[in-house]
Amino acid sequence: MANETFDVVIVGGGMGGLNLAALLTQAGKRVLVLERGGQESLGGRAASGRIGGAAVDNGIKGLIMSGSQDEIYRRIGKTLPENVCKWTNSGQIYMNGEWRELDPLLQRAMDEFLRIYKGTAVDSSYEQLEDLDAISIKKFITDRTDNRDIIDFFDYLGWLFGGTLPEATDYSAGSLFYSIKKQVDANGFMPSQSYWVKGGSGAIAKGLIEAIKENGGEIRTGSSVSHIVIEDGRVRGVEVECGDKRVVPTQLVDTKRIDAPVVASAVAIWDIFNIVSEDDLSPWFRDRIEHLHRKTLNLCTLTYGVDRADLWDDSGQRWVQKGPVSGRPWCASDLRYFDDEERYEISFWMQLGWWDKPNIFEMRKAAHKIALRKLFDDWEGDVASLFPGIAENALWKVRSFGPATLIETPGNVGRALVDVEAEGIEGLYLVGERTSAAKIMGVYGSAHAALAASDKILQKYPVGSGSSAGVSASA
Ligand SMILES: Cc1cc2nc3c(=O)[nH]c(=O)nc-3n(C[C@H](O)[C@H](O)[C@H](O)COP(=O)(O)OP(=O)(O)OC[C@H]3O[C@@H](n4cnc5c(N)ncnc54)[C@H](O)[C@@H]3O)c2cc1C
Repeated sequence: MANETFDVVIVGGGMGGLNLAALLTQAGKRVLVLERGGQESLGGRAASGRIGGAAVDNGIKGLIMSGSQDEIYRRIGKTLPENVCKWTNSGQIYMNGEWRELDPLLQRAMDEFLRIYKGTAVDSSYEQLEDLDAISIKKFITDRTDNRDIIDFFDYLGWLFGGTLPEATDYSAGSLFYSIKKQVDANGFMPSQSYWVKGGSGAIAKGLIEAIKENGGEIRTGSSVSHIVIEDGRVRGVEVECGDKRVVPTQLVDTKRIDAPVVASAVAIWDIFNIVSEDDLSPWFRDRIEHLHRKTLNLCTLTYGVDRADLWDDSGQRWVQKGPVSGRPWCASDLRYFDDEERYEISFWMQLGWWDKPNIFEMRKAAHKIALRKLFDDWEGDVASLFPGIAENALWKVRSFGPATLIETPGNVGRALVDVEAEGIEGLYLVGERTSAAKIMGVYGSAHAALAASDKILQKYPVGSGSSAGVSASA
């Protein structure tokens, strides 16, 4: 029996894969998305679960808006879910044992702040901003001003994005300003707040799934791709696991082949070598992926469901530079993800870098679990001390931990990343935050990469060209 055939097969039903599938089906391509997880996994790291009437995110809290997800929604004729972020100020920061307001700090130096912030994002070209990819925010700002308030604010911005990096401001200036410029160009305003998705981050995936199905695309969950078939330097299709699985861990499972002239890998960077043979890639490309793989940021989240408004004063997001018990920096904010408006979530997050967990595959080891439990216990001590009442009055609590994204350090973004079109392999595309097109990490980065990949695929394999020829051969 002939193999099934599609114009494009996309491996991974996270935001990168769904965004690309939505764009290509809209353009008329016959697309198959293969996701190894169940239906609830669609959206990948940006999926949301549910507890007691509330959407609970897999991890994401504040998406850094940068125009690309909006652009995809516009192209597919859908409306992005509402932004439920209420605050527009910059929140508060807990430094040296006291809370400090960030707004007064900024107001004191607004003119100079605008000169640098707006001047750089709006007046520079994208090419000029890419020249800042390898420069840290710290260097960027201290080269331009000696105003302490401004330096503190950028320090804080670096901290916000760079999290608990050893060098607090060691975050790429190019990455920050590129995303601001993208948003100004796409939406016509400077970002003053991030985007918290009504219904949880998983709500963004829903619109994409609808669009894919409306345009004749297919999504198969529970479908794990064992590898991308590459012969003579060109993609031929994928092998998908099938039949009885996992009776014993070492069991070799059966696979079936699906043919396609174009395959896009939309899996996270740590999964790439599960599906692409290292031997198929050029040494440079392979080394680059391995280098990036080690630059992964892990993220811990602590989420409480609460029904007492007096436990939180709604004044915005707060950053704790050094928790009184954990001694670690983290961030807290409230979100309204409950169906019932009387109740809401309070969410805390903390970033851990590769120096804490040198190899993400090691994370499953018991020793790390013990270390993580201690970290969460100490962190809850911080919460009890700084926000009394939240832990005791919680309706429920979720502790979660996982590899979040790549670290946006200088030299680790933009031009330092790989192209969406895989070097030297005809028909293979890479979508996601590890690509130069992503510019920023996270959901908006995946959306940037999907836009770039879609444009390249449609240019090289126009609808109605040879790439669609095998459609009728489908089983
Ligand atoms: C805790 C946490 C907090 C985060 N916070 C933020 C935030 O605040 N803002 C932000 O913008 N971003 C945040 N991120 C990052 C963001 O979630 C990711 O950058 C983004 O969702 C990546 O999308 P992706 O499609 O590229 O990858 P993924 O979401 O990882 O999708 C890849 C998909 O491929 C599937 N897959 C893997 N291997 C196979 C295979 N062999 N066959 C079939 N399917 C396969 C996986 O199951 C998965 O669904 C956070 C992530 C985490 C984990």
